[in-house]
Amino acid sequence: MMKYDLVVIGGGIHGAGIAQAAAARGFSVLVLEQNSLASGTSSRSSKLIHGGLRYLESGQFGLVRECLQERALLLKLAPDLVRLQPFYIPVYRNTTRRPWQLRAGLSLYAMLGGMDKATRFHALPRQAWTNLDGLDTTQLQGVFQYWDGQTDDAALTRAVMHSAQELGAQLSMPSTFAGAEIGAQGCTVHYTHNGQTQTCEASVLVNAAGPWVNHVLDKITPPPAQLNVELVQGTHIIVGGEITQGIYYVEAPRDQRAVFVMPWQGKIMVGTTETTYHGDPAAVQPLPGEKNYLLETLTHYFPFYRSLRQGDILSAFAGLRVLPSGTGTAFGRPRDTTLHTGLPGSPRLLTVYGGKLTAYRITAERVLQRIAPALPPRKIIANTCTLKLRA
Ligand SMILES: Cc1cc2nc3c(=O)[nH]c(=O)nc-3n(C[C@H](O)[C@H](O)[C@H](O)COP(=O)(O)OP(=O)(O)OC[C@H]3O[C@@H](n4cnc5c(N)ncnc54)[C@H](O)[C@@H]3O)c2cc1C
Repeated sequence: MMKYDLVVIGGGIHGAGIAQAAAARGFSVLVLEQNSLASGTSSRSSKLIHGGLRYLESGQFGLVRECLQERALLLKLAPDLVRLQPFYIPVYRNTTRRPWQLRAGLSLYAMLGGMDKATRFHALPRQAWTNLDGLDTTQLQGVFQYWDGQTDDAALTRAVMHSAQELGAQLSMPSTFAGAEIGAQGCTVHYTHNGQTQTCEASVLVNAAGPWVNHVLDKITPPPAQLNVELVQGTHIIVGGEITQGIYYVEAPRDQRAVFVMPWQGKIMVGTTETTYHGDPAAVQPLPGEKNYLLETLTHYFPFYRSLRQGDILSAFAGLRVLPSGTGTAFGRPRDTTLHTGLPGSPRLLTVYGGKLTAYRITAERVLQRIAPALPPRKIIANTCTLKLRA
């Protein structure tokens, strides 16, 4: 029977990142992915490599600082995949976030980002407003411009997995995790591949199954403790048209949530929403109400598109956030990653709950630190801080 140091469930950005970090530390690693790489949340994000300006409002300074550090690193390691884009925040007479608040927020963002070139911001002069892709200038009081990163999330995931495979990681796909027994000496892992059940041994099992995390834990013996989480769906729509100047960060007219209007593969992408989801993660679909909300936001700020109707939406996709259960809106809920063991005293199982595309590398390094006591000594062969990623 094959024996690995590590078996990772899930070929999303976290599974790929953990495989890369593990292989870089010289561990043997097998990744099980039931569909294709990035077929879950990691192809349905807003595709931003960012600190998350809006997380400053909920006081998540540590998360913002860490994401800005990872952004700086990814700009160096993956220049073909992560690109800085100008972001514009228009302030109208009735915008909730006032100019002084935005100035304070952007200054803090710059400080947390180490005041490098990519964290600079400024207020656009009035004469530049007419160059902003037809942005409505009625009642416009000012426009702030700052910088953040944009990527192709699925391509980034594939690049990270490719890097992991170059270091020796193995990927079995499509392979569905079917169950595992975890004991003091290690894990016995069962999965189905090409209709056949396969079994292997691992020193550690890492559950990076995104919105399926608790489904995976249901199949493990002895039953690990699970965290209470809520799945919150986020939808994006894609419409015809062109945005050439960068990414617009606007307030949805209906509820003042932050929404992005961005260029995407020669078209316009608008997102996202926050709708509690209770079904099968594989069945998540954009809802008509969400599409209306996003279309209404686009047409509110860009009058040129006012004639667009739902039938004009070229495509739409929905992804699932894994957020801690709680009261209040999903918008204000923490977005940090939680690493959870679930079995008392056992570093043989670790589950990744939540997280950010942007912070996948540092999350993976943390996973490796947590499970290190259960892994055999190996010779480090590379460092994820310096490994280049290619599209
Ligand atoms: C709407 C939305 C917008 C977002 N925007 C951003 C953003 O702009 N920037 C940012 O930094 N972050 C963003 N995020 C967060 C980021 O996208 C996620 O944190 C990240 O993609 C999660 O990756 P993951 O690997 O944990 O999960 P996933 O990508 O969902 O991967 C889990 C994988 O596990 C596989 N799997 C599940 N069960 C099994 C099984 N039994 N056997 C084998 N395989 C299995 C699935 O097929 C899937 O491929 C956004 C999230 C959402 C929902």
